[in-house]
Amino acid sequence: MEVIPSFQVDHTGLRPGIYISRQDSFGDTAFTTYDIRMTAPNQEPAIAPAALHTIEHIVATYLRNRPDWKEYVIYWGPMGCLTGNYLILRGHYDCEVIRQLMVEAMTFVVEYEGTVPGAAPDSCGNYLLHDLPMAKWEAERYIQRLNDEFCSEYTLLERPDVDGLQFHDA
Ligand SMILES: [Zn+2]
Repeated sequence: MEVIPSFQVDHTGLRPGIYISRQDSFGDTAFTTYDIRMTAPNQEPAIAPAALHTIEHIVATYLRNRPDWKEYVIYWGPMGCLTGNYLILRGHYDCEVIRQLMVEAMTFVVEYEGTVPGAAPDSCGNYLLHDLPMAKWEAERYIQRLNDEFCSEYTLLERPDVDGLQFHDA
């Protein structure tokens, strides 16, 4: 299978930031997958599953209620490696635009009070796996990183080819 250049990412040097993971088009409609990277992979502790799960719920709620963005949001969810999230949007926007959106979304997490939205057995597959205080801590740190040391350019890497299969994390 063909490798899209933005997939060939060197994770050993990846810094927290916002990156364009891939761009797709179906018919006349473009879709962009953003790598919302909150921690430096393999260089510092990943986000605890409960905290990232809470960030998933609150940010999804936020994005799908933003009048100016909700019709463009296709998907928001955590990475299996627990170092960030994927955001899939209809259309294509500069990382700088998504940076501002993420600062606002993470600020919503920091200021969120009360029950985590959707954290109930009828609406979540693991409703006890939530940690709002740690979600706020991670969101606050990510806001600082987006403000202080924003990165949006991947360092590329050769993808290994094993028996004709190439490996991707997305
Ligand atoms: Zn859930």
